[in-house]
Amino acid sequence: MNQTPEIKRHLEKSKNIVITTHHKPDGDAMGSSLGLWHYLKSLGHQPIVITPTDYGHFLHWMPGNEEVIVYTEQTEKSIQVLEESDTIFCLDYSALSRGNEIGEWIRKHRDGRCIVMMDHHLNPEAFDDFRIWDNHASSTCELVYRFIDGCGDSSHMASQIAECLYVGIMTDTGSFKFSNTTPEVHRIIAHLLERGAQAQMINNKLFDNFSENRTRFMGYCLYAKLKVLPEYHTAYMCITEAELKQFDIQTGDTEGLVNYALSILGVNFGVLIVDRGVLRKMSFRSIGSFPANVFASHFNGGGHHNASGGMSECSLEETEEKFLHLLEEFKPQLLY
Ligand code: 5GP
Ligand code: MN
Repeated sequence: MNQTPEIKRHLEKSKNIVITTHHKPDGDAMGSSLGLWHYLKSLGHQPIVITPTDYGHFLHWMPGNEEVIVYTEQTEKSIQVLEESDTIFCLDYSALSRGNEIGEWIRKHRDGRCIVMMDHHLNPEAFDDFRIWDNHASSTCELVYRFIDGCGDSSHMASQIAECLYVGIMTDTGSFKFSNTTPEVHRIIAHLLERGAQAQMINNKLFDNFSENRTRFMGYCLYAKLKVLPEYHTAYMCITEAELKQFDIQTGDTEGLVNYALSILGVNFGVLIVDRGVLRKMSFRSIGSFPANVFASHFNGGGHHNASGGMSECSLEETEEKFLHLLEEFKPQLLY
């Protein structure tokens, strides 16, 4: 569904716009939020981006980042900004639980405000007034691009917008490798390059800016932690809290680790289980027909067909056991 004309008309009378996204925002979450933020500013609005939690340092270089409010770090200010809002954009999520306290706040206070959802995840909840939603879109950044294009402004978009949208399309397509990399994605990317996005600089900022600790942690995980189960076409890793501490792992540092599991010949399903203390966070990635999101639904999660996540309140050992048990159930679907 694409309600660009309705959203455009609504914005003409909107005064206080807040842009929100999901917790632990990734490249698409921050790219779409800041891309839309720059665009709305160019229309004369004074939007404010609030994220439920912090996010990886590899995203802090993005234009506009210095003005982002992090709810967990500036809670009072966040609530004040939310209270003053008349329009709230929900980007890259369509289940309020993905917005943590901000999602809760919206659930309680949505009346009298206009909620605009822009998202590409399956099974959106109905908390919005308007939406641009397409689960076949590569990314929420692609949807923000379609919105700007639908408003007639893509031909003259500022380079900051192009840069932000490039980030999300690139990260959500795995650098234009995943099956969501359509001809349309390449057409949009070509246009973003024409509008001033600098591919080499963005690649460098995103992928060549890690700490030494993070690189050694990757090496350690691949050498000592990766378990390969050829009979299930699966590879997985379980990371303890102590290991995160040992390598001084920060928010965002485990991003990308799960993809290495899929790089092994014959592996169709890659899994990462990380003990985050309060809960065990799980990432699922598949190649081809295996539905990672159906698997994730057994761990209070979901997501896309080939990329999904979930969590477990059991111990790391119990979670691994449950995972292995479930793998046996899914075995027939994994053999291809
Ligand atoms: P990641 O493994 O990078 O944390 O998440 C990959 C994708 O899975 C996300 O883009 C999101 O769509 C989905 N996802 C991750 N965690 C959860 C979760 O707890 N619940 C749901 N419904 N989806 C999730
Ligand atoms: Mn996304």
